[in-house]
Amino acid sequence: MVSRLIQVEDFDLVIFGATGDLARRKILPGLFRRHAAGQFPQGARIIGAARTDMDDAAFRDDVRAAIAEFDTSRRDSPELPGFLDRLSYVPIDARGEGGWAELRARMRPGVVQAFYFSVAPSLFGDLAERLARHDIAGPDARIVVEKPFGRDLASARALNETLARHFAERQIYRIDHYLGKETVQNLMAVRFANMLFEPLWNAHYIDHVQITVAETVGVAGRGAYYDQSGAMRDMVQNHLMQLVCLIAMEPPFHFDPNAVRDEKLKVIRALEPIPPADIVRGQYGAGGAEAGYLADAENPDSRTESFVALKLRIANWRWQGVPFYLRTGKRLRARTSEIAVVFREPPHSIFDDTGEPQTNQLVIRLQPNEGMNLKVNIKEPGPGGMRLVQVPLDMSFAEALGPDGTDMPDAYERLITDVIRGNQTLFMRGDEVEAAWAWADPVISAWESGSARPEPYDPGTSGPDQALGLMHRDGRRWREIKA
Ligand code: NAP
Repeated sequence: MVSRLIQVEDFDLVIFGATGDLARRKILPGLFRRHAAGQFPQGARIIGAARTDMDDAAFRDDVRAAIAEFDTSRRDSPELPGFLDRLSYVPIDARGEGGWAELRARMRPGVVQAFYFSVAPSLFGDLAERLARHDIAGPDARIVVEKPFGRDLASARALNETLARHFAERQIYRIDHYLGKETVQNLMAVRFANMLFEPLWNAHYIDHVQITVAETVGVAGRGAYYDQSGAMRDMVQNHLMQLVCLIAMEPPFHFDPNAVRDEKLKVIRALEPIPPADIVRGQYGAGGAEAGYLADAENPDSRTESFVALKLRIANWRWQGVPFYLRTGKRLRARTSEIAVVFREPPHSIFDDTGEPQTNQLVIRLQPNEGMNLKVNIKEPGPGGMRLVQVPLDMSFAEALGPDGTDMPDAYERLITDVIRGNQTLFMRGDEVEAAWAWADPVISAWESGSARPEPYDPGTSGPDQALGLMHRDGRRWREIKA
């Protein structure tokens, strides 16, 4: 199956922070892949901006080097010169006055205008104000902002207010790259385009949901940043919360940005506060030759969590009594992200010798190998009588949808294309972000005001034992963390 490619309109995309890590590692290589795929029309232009003083040619050299470094398979691609021709560069300090007139002169009337703020959030206000004051961004211009969107409710609100002074909500695209993943969008397709699942998608048939986002890497190299954040801020409040929303939301009346986001917001607002007994935070210790968290974070007294496991309850009709177990952490056994929807047992078994009862599970893998599998019970083949065995109905999206599994746009490619198209469905709205912080804030402030330390765990494991206990005490267990 080959996906249809629909070109976007002509655009001017300005990347503030074009010399930074995110731009070089993700945004520019992603744009190049869309160019190579034929997604961009003749009139697509990308303008880099940052304080570094360089001209267009030097910027093109830098982008060529970035693609060689971060997308090695395409370093000699014949499409590269055509992509570099689309690029130019304007030196601009977000807090200074130089360069804005030149940027204005480069913007073309009548094409889509987008401004990607790939800089520290403390510069968002400066950029927004200068874009408005220098009359660079028109009323339909789009701005794209990266995480972290605040570090608590108050700072998220302040950021929203800053942006709202110069841009309408319909112009603001808050990126959560999890929402750009093929599988995450497929959650909506699976739920709302099939008759098969939605009738079962409620407390009558679902026992619980578990979401795991596990990483094998630690925080070395970005310990200073991470230590100010922690797993609750860095992963749970945004990425895992978005996954919960997509699993739990009611069907929107239409696949329309505000209709979808209205339903997600209702889920966040229905979350019950988490009692302390329902949340476990952990911090990895040293293992083998690898340093532990405290050394990686260069903070021997740090109480920042590198792991969180928690039990969520959604106080609405559909999910009454269905726990959502979430866990995420660093230096765990394998790198994997998955959602498992675990169904209830049949009310009565007609089979005698079935061994351990196996419930149906719909497992949605976000990485590695995006796809889904549905575990169903069948008769064990052979003459041994009626014994049941569980088998997966397996679908890997790469195999099913791409000719060689390499053709799927990554999350950044998809999201930037959506910005150009003006489709906000996969971007967080301001009120969604604030609601998620309003839910997370009490947990974080209780940790920060208390004296308890996170539970230690050994690297290469599933996290602290207390996290296993969170499910064991409910008579359930986590799925194994494996790649
Ligand atoms: P970075 O490597 O430190 O890059 C920052 C960029 O901002 C550089 O291009 C820098 O270039 C520019 N800059 C700094 N001060 C400026 C100023 N006063 N005026 C204009 N440009 C200025 O940071 P990053 O990792 O790319 O992250 C950028 C944003 O994305 C941050 O908000 C970060 O939280 C977010 N983010 C990053 C990642 C990631 O993987 N890196 C992931 C998710 C979110 P000059 O020094 O030349 O000015």
